[in-house]
Amino acid sequence: MSSISLRTITKSFGDAMVLDGVDLDIKDGKFVTLVGPSGCGKSTLLRILAGLEATDAGTVTIGKRDVTQTRPSLRNLAMVFQSYALYPHLSVAQNMLTPLLMRDLTKTQRLPVIGPLISRAKRKALTAQVDAVAQTLKITELLTRKPGQLSGGQRQRVALGRAMVRNPVAFLMDEPLSNLDAALRVHMRSELTELHRRLKTTFVYVTHDQAEALTMSDRMAVMMGGKILQFGRPDDIYRDPNSLAVARFVGSPA
Ligand code: ADP
Ligand code: MG
Repeated sequence: MSSISLRTITKSFGDAMVLDGVDLDIKDGKFVTLVGPSGCGKSTLLRILAGLEATDAGTVTIGKRDVTQTRPSLRNLAMVFQSYALYPHLSVAQNMLTPLLMRDLTKTQRLPVIGPLISRAKRKALTAQVDAVAQTLKITELLTRKPGQLSGGQRQRVALGRAMVRNPVAFLMDEPLSNLDAALRVHMRSELTELHRRLKTTFVYVTHDQAEALTMSDRMAVMMGGKILQFGRPDDIYRDPNSLAVARFVGSPA
């Protein structure tokens, strides 16, 4: 079963064709990496999946739903941004609660002060949801802090937590570890794969780092020049690359 399908995704910016008829099927619960050199179209493909960028041609399907024309907030995907995009003036708990509060309000109710519009019972239920996610991510002791009082790795976890509370179909991550120092990056790799094992939710993970893709993913898509050259298990691609370009990129033995 494929929970996410991309069909003949095509995208140009001006005269430059950035995605050239990309097909990709992502099965439910898999950790899939999009890997390839800088500029090959990884971020654009992820943004099209998220609905942050329109595709020129092709379709995006999530479950059985064609979401090609659907706006991002209705796709039930969680984009975890590299810059973390946390509200600096809110506590970690409030940062995680806010997306839930926003979701439960109609558009006209979205005022700067949203607290009073939510019933006490509802707020209690949502807070319990935040607490459960915080436990999963082992950030309970951070809930009362502000983002400025967190380390890079902790901020990363909070950003993930804020995405998790909405129970998304998939997490989309664009080079989420590239701002971290080398030691923390290696640590976060195993944290993310461990988290994926526990959550069993689909991860779509963009990286230019072939070592990251080889070690973290269930399936990897090797991209170059706006195409997916090879898609499969990391081991299979490493051992049996389908072209010289793929072999060179993943560092297969000659
Ligand atoms: P990657 O994430 O693999 O590094 P991107 O998807 O960001 O690649 O970019 C692919 C190509 O598309 C690059 O040449 C980039 O300069 C170009 N590009 C990306 N976004 C835009 C945009 N909004 N306008 C014009 N060109 C863009
Ligand atoms: Mg990119």
